[in-house]
Amino acid sequence: MNRFVADSVIGFNCVRCGASHYPAEVQYTCSCDSEQGILDIDYQYEGIRKNVSRADLASSTQVGMWRYLPLLPVPDNAQLPSLVVGNTPLYALSGLAHQLDLKQVWCKDESRQPSGSLKDRASAMAVVHARLAGYDTLATASTGNAAAALSCLAANMSMRAKIYVPKDAPKEKLLQIQAYGAEIVLVDGNYDAAFKLSLTEAKENHWYIRNTAYNPYMTEGKKTVAYEIAEQLNWQMPDVIAVSVGDGSIIGGVHKGLKDLLALGWIEKMPRILGVQASGSDFIYQAWHNRETVLDKAAIAANSVADSLQADLPKDRVKALNAVVQTGGIYTTVTDEEILQAMNTLGRHGILSEPAAAATLAGITKARKDRQLEAHESLVMINTGTGLKDMTSIQKMLKSYGSENINQGKC
Ligand SMILES: *Cc1c(COP(=O)(O)O)cnc(C)c1O
Ligand SMILES: [Zn+2]
Repeated sequence: MNRFVADSVIGFNCVRCGASHYPAEVQYTCSCDSEQGILDIDYQYEGIRKNVSRADLASSTQVGMWRYLPLLPVPDNAQLPSLVVGNTPLYALSGLAHQLDLKQVWCKDESRQPSGSLKDRASAMAVVHARLAGYDTLATASTGNAAAALSCLAANMSMRAKIYVPKDAPKEKLLQIQAYGAEIVLVDGNYDAAFKLSLTEAKENHWYIRNTAYNPYMTEGKKTVAYEIAEQLNWQMPDVIAVSVGDGSIIGGVHKGLKDLLALGWIEKMPRILGVQASGSDFIYQAWHNRETVLDKAAIAANSVADSLQADLPKDRVKALNAVVQTGGIYTTVTDEEILQAMNTLGRHGILSEPAAAATLAGITKARKDRQLEAHESLVMINTGTGLKDMTSIQKMLKSYGSENINQGKC
């Protein structure tokens, strides 16, 4: 499968045992541990730098994440989806910056992706890689957004998607998946159970496996959000990039993108990464705070209004911890009530967020109060998914924060 790889890829490095593998030696994970032996794709940066420059990018007519193809693991003859993934706007939210007493706050609005969340970046990578490797069916386990994203991108490439979801996923997400024509397997259990079943059935049927923190290409898709932020800010990075964390894959992708840019000499400084977890799903925060070894730490029983942040045992926990530790960043946690309040605040700035996305603003607010962010600092927050994905939570938010603005019209 990894014979279909860009020439710039030199190896697949295991985050657990440290072994470095040639692309053709591995399929998804390292032989040291089929679940925890997650791989990280390593590039020949010197070669990339010779082939492409920031000026080349500026003159590129390719719109969206594929403009960064020279920095991605797929060869340049790959068939790409026609849907535009990426190219999401970066807004300056000066009013919010003023409210938070920060120098500047930008919002990278991933709610504007084709299926409404950042997960499209990974799923686009999955369909492109699967097509190259000759698959026509892809499988994934997901709590909702990754599944919606895969269903959307597979439909666009005329491929089939098999989706394994826990049966308590928000109904909007389940409907969205079905509308894209994917086949759903409702799992009577949690995400972990869905994950295990998806692997078993995909292996039996020779389907491509998109599962996050299992398929190393997913981080490579997600990292393009960092490239776009850098390009949109003319390569002048903010002091902090803030993002919410469930399984830990997005934050790992953001970090990977920033490391690439630093290695290429395209940015001068590494921003600190602020990771926000829900207080009811704070495995990584605990490990970071108590200096525990994430690979040995026992699973917790996660629960949060932010369904996309629920993870008993975050699968990408090694990459997620490294993202904060290696950038001198911080982890913080927010309650369900703080998340709903942040949803309300974002709405009042014109941005509709699902709880998992609004958690980021809640975390920024908390970190600012705790003096972990300073008034002279600038910050990018990633709005990871649209509020239309979970209207039940919007309703809950309105109950607490002003559903009063409907008046009876008199005829
Ligand atoms: C998946 C998701 C997250 C969390 O990302 P992880 O990679 O699981 O840490 C946050 N927000 C939204 C909207 C998501 O879909
Ligand atoms: Zn290994």
